Amino acid sequence: MTIADIEPPAPARTGAREVEVTLPIGFVDGEGRVHRQVSLRKMTGRDEALLADPANQRNGGRLVTALLHSCITRIGELESLRRNDIETMYSVDRNFLLIRLRSFTFGSTLPAGYTCPSCGGRFEQEEDLDALPTRLLADGEQPEDIVVELRDGYLDKDGSVHTAMTLRLARGDDESAAAPQMRKNASLGKNALLARCLRSLGDLPRHRLEALGPKILSDLTLTDRRLIDRAFNNEVPGIDLVRELDCPSCGHELRASLDMTNFLALD
Ligand SMILES: [Zn+2]
Repeated sequence: MTIADIEPPAPARTGAREVEVTLPIGFVDGEGRVHRQVSLRKMTGRDEALLADPANQRNGGRLVTALLHSCITRIGELESLRRNDIETMYSVDRNFLLIRLRSFTFGSTLPAGYTCPSCGGRFEQEEDLDALPTRLLADGEQPEDIVVELRDGYLDKDGSVHTAMTLRLARGDDESAAAPQMRKNASLGKNALLARCLRSLGDLPRHRLEALGPKILSDLTLTDRRLIDRAFNNEVPGIDLVRELDCPSCGHELRASLDMTNFLALD
């Protein structure tokens, strides 16, 4: 995959209440056309009610769909999108829109907190959402599957080892489907999400892949899990949420995912 742009796109402010942004991948409509220019309007009091809705709070995928459905005013030439359309958008594009929406409504400064794995010290840091590096596909470029050659591989019950893994990019409906596991814990949620996106693993037949599901992911070694994470971080377009930070207490350099705890805090 070639990466067209690693600069953070400066939001083009088209008015006080609306902003236009370019999707990292793009929304594919029913006729196969790709739309990448999106107009977002600021969140309002009505959207606050969406955030507070218990059904949305139980399901992160559903919450993002509801919020984007409410705040997207236009995609390409399309002026109205159904919730179903928002669900079929790539997670990468949905997360990008969510971050731009948050930044546009509440400002780009995000208070974040991290724990140093070396000294155990906790430190606060202000993040700038607009400064996070963003990779955009070139015009006309299609998103590709993620191909990972596992080092240890999946050990099947007949003793065979499968190492060639292909995953497609997750969409909104995958997020919604994995939400019940995500509520139990983040690791189970991630396994459920990856299992839905697993296209192939060695020569395991389709029905075996589906029967094993998340078990495949939980059986992989942490060596292989890291290879999968790295492939996603390096190859997938969108906003890079991996932060490289220096611990202010001991100077240790750490890598952590952007702390989103205060992301949609309304006070
Ligand atoms: Zn430290």
